Amino acid sequence: MSFSDPQPPAPSPQPDGDANGVTVVGAGLAGTLAAILLARCGIAIEVFERRPDLRRVQLDAGRSINLALADRGLAALAMAGLGEAVAPLLIPMRGRLLHALDGSETLVPYGQRPHEVIYSVSRPGLNRLLLDRLEQDAHVSVQFEHTGTGADFERGTVVFDTGSGSRIERPLERVIAADGAGSPMRRSVLAHTDARANEELLEHGYKELTLPAGAGGRHQIDLHALHIWPRGGFMLIALPNLDGSFTVTLFLPHEGETSFAHLTSVADVEGFFANQFPDALELMPDVGREFFEHPTGIMGTIRCERWAVDDRVLLIGDAAHGIVPFHGQGMNCAFEDCAELDRLIASSEDRDWRWIFREFEARRRPEANAIADMALENYIEMRDTVREARFQLGKQLAFELERRCPDRFIPRYSMVMFHHEIPYSVAERRGRIQAGLLAELTTGAHALADIDLDAAEALVRERLPPLAQHE
Ligand code: FAD
Repeated sequence: MSFSDPQPPAPSPQPDGDANGVTVVGAGLAGTLAAILLARCGIAIEVFERRPDLRRVQLDAGRSINLALADRGLAALAMAGLGEAVAPLLIPMRGRLLHALDGSETLVPYGQRPHEVIYSVSRPGLNRLLLDRLEQDAHVSVQFEHTGTGADFERGTVVFDTGSGSRIERPLERVIAADGAGSPMRRSVLAHTDARANEELLEHGYKELTLPAGAGGRHQIDLHALHIWPRGGFMLIALPNLDGSFTVTLFLPHEGETSFAHLTSVADVEGFFANQFPDALELMPDVGREFFEHPTGIMGTIRCERWAVDDRVLLIGDAAHGIVPFHGQGMNCAFEDCAELDRLIASSEDRDWRWIFREFEARRRPEANAIADMALENYIEMRDTVREARFQLGKQLAFELERRCPDRFIPRYSMVMFHHEIPYSVAERRGRIQAGLLAELTTGAHALADIDLDAAEALVRERLPPLAQHE
């Protein structure tokens, strides 16, 4: 992925601007990028955000929270002309660095070409960049500390609580709801349409912690890797920050023998880390204190049957499709939503919002379902199977098959993370066929030398059509 901005043609502005303005609920990652792209078309945008302006007020108690940004997200940012601006915020991570209980380390590369890396990026840093860019556009106004309370379909309004006891209303027309996983707008849409949302909470939660910078702001562990301490039913991960620290996340069941429920004192936490992550503990002197200061997060998958109502409301990002974080794709998928919305607006000559919203839902819902499934599967891979010799052999074989047949076999992880031109749903379908092939070919093998690679290549050619022909 290059960071230069190819500047694809922006949808042409309406001659006198678009009299039909758009209301965006939520100035998080999806809401801001969607608004930036919409404003380029000359559409007047009003954005309402529940929280204070994070550029002026320290949120999340100043904690560094970071995310993995990959090709899909970068492609959408480049569409908004933000490729170069985002580059200084990014730290490339070339693979998973596995930390075994005995302290040994193994790097499992994500890809096999130099550009096949993913990037650690600060969530508030990225949100700040998006807000700065958004406010440069004369068509945009952003109102912070305005909490959307949902849509009133009877009265045709969307209502915002200003925090000072007053409320303001906007017409329920062309409202883009990017108000996150807990979206009040989603609840309104469901109530109005009698559609359902399946919200499946994971039995595991998460806790964000810090591995601080060493002397002189030095990173204390490999800067260019996503670190994982996989322990079977649970895991610890760490992503680098620009200030020398790492944001560490513990994923653990809420209940049960090894769970958050059993970590009730500093001594419990330190004892748990000493047993399970002794090398990390040495570098995390504050873990006992931080553990109780930081909230335990919940995770889940939200599959909502309905995202659009006429030309009135469209749900995007986590509001439409919450997914678990184990493929590092929630934000990437939300950014891809924004890119798709932009493409649809550009392709609707008479700017038919009813069509744009309906088409968006029809195109994106199968994609969101596909990445939701793959993200759930990836949790088991990250915390467990990644440690197995057979998994490592499967990875080596997958790279070899990709070298031999690059138009037919691309490892599923690579399709999701490095190929925004391949839809998630195609990655999922082809990934299933590929997983079957890899399982078959690695049965009884201990090394690549045990596998007849010419026969393996022939099998690929037999079972997988070239990518371009797949759909
Ligand atoms: P949000 O970022 O949640 O933004 C919603 C915005 O709406 C917020 O600003 C919120 O304050 C505002 N809002 C909420 N309610 C209202 C209201 N009533 N009125 C007005 N405003 C409102 N994704 C990745 O791609 N890579 C990763 O590595 C990754 N790691 C993750 C790790 C964890 C632990 C978690 C939980 C998620 C992770 N994700 C990751 C997912 C990612 O955080 C989300 O998919 C992404 O933030 C979605 O963007 P969004 O704008 O839809 O929602």
